[in-house]
Amino acid sequence: MGEIWIKEAERLGGGSIGGAMDSPSAPPRVVWHTTESGAGNAAFNAVGKYLSTAASEPHILYDPATDRLGQYGPLNQSARALRNDGSTRTNRTGKVCIQIEVLGRAGSPFTSTWKPGPNFRALMRAIRSWGVPDAWPAGNCAPGASRNRTTWATKGGHYGHCHVPGNDHWDPGNIDRAAILKAAPPSTGSGSSSGSTSTYTVKSGDTLSGVGAKMGVKWQTIASLNGIKAPYTIVVGQVLKLKGATPSTPATPTVDLSNLIAAARRDPGLAQGGTTHPADVKIVEAALQAEGLLSAAYAKDGSFGTVTVTAYAAWQRRCGYTGSAADGIPGKASLEKLGAKRGFKVKA
Ligand SMILES: [Zn+2]
Repeated sequence: MGEIWIKEAERLGGGSIGGAMDSPSAPPRVVWHTTESGAGNAAFNAVGKYLSTAASEPHILYDPATDRLGQYGPLNQSARALRNDGSTRTNRTGKVCIQIEVLGRAGSPFTSTWKPGPNFRALMRAIRSWGVPDAWPAGNCAPGASRNRTTWATKGGHYGHCHVPGNDHWDPGNIDRAAILKAAPPSTGSGSSSGSTSTYTVKSGDTLSGVGAKMGVKWQTIASLNGIKAPYTIVVGQVLKLKGATPSTPATPTVDLSNLIAAARRDPGLAQGGTTHPADVKIVEAALQAEGLLSAAYAKDGSFGTVTVTAYAAWQRRCGYTGSAADGIPGKASLEKLGAKRGFKVKA
């Protein structure tokens, strides 16, 4: 099972956009689009809302100018940015069909001006977690690109909207396909979530024990996972599976619910700079910031002050609570939900 919600992405819309895939035994794929708009935060917000209103959401909205990443729906279900090909529901082809709208125009390929950062790498990590190969089976995205039905039905990898049969849009334009893959080499997938497949591509000068040290995995484990036997030779370009190996990710932090409640009740009334249980509060503040509910200016102060209470109340409303149930004082259920999404455990 791959990543369903990308933890680095902010949530857009209501969280439910499609349904089960029609051909889950067909290979996994990605479809790239451009929004035919400008980039930047104002465009992200406006287009982000528009795609929901128009009910043509992709899974992902990405801003190549700022590396901002949003997600509308779970990656293991369909999105709805494609037209059907006759009776074939192209949105539902494959094990996954991850659709990405990039803020930009097909006429000026975004890869010539983009600034991919950590969020882009997180996106590629999630894509690879489904086994989508680093390949473009339908070739380039220039005008007149191939929309071959057999290729679409049988090959996994990266496609443009311009490659999908039964569709007539030619976005994302003639982007640099290799740059998409190179901007997030598989080996930079450090800290990939447990349960998903992580890999390492062997570089010049690497040894098996060196790779093990770098990835925090016993080299013997890597050897047995990949069927490598004495004299344990690896070659440049070889992709090593690390799945099932001891993860190098740090232990999941724990937030004590009673500490947090005490902080949320006390900190807003304290003199400026007063904090209660800052270690617990900081973890929750970081999670609220990742949700787009708390600005960076407040996200690291460790004080559950009025701004943090307001942000937590917004999270509670997002969880479906209203009225006094969304008062900004953390409860067990809403905190566990936040922790499950943003990587902490709750001690209640
Ligand atoms: Zn499109």
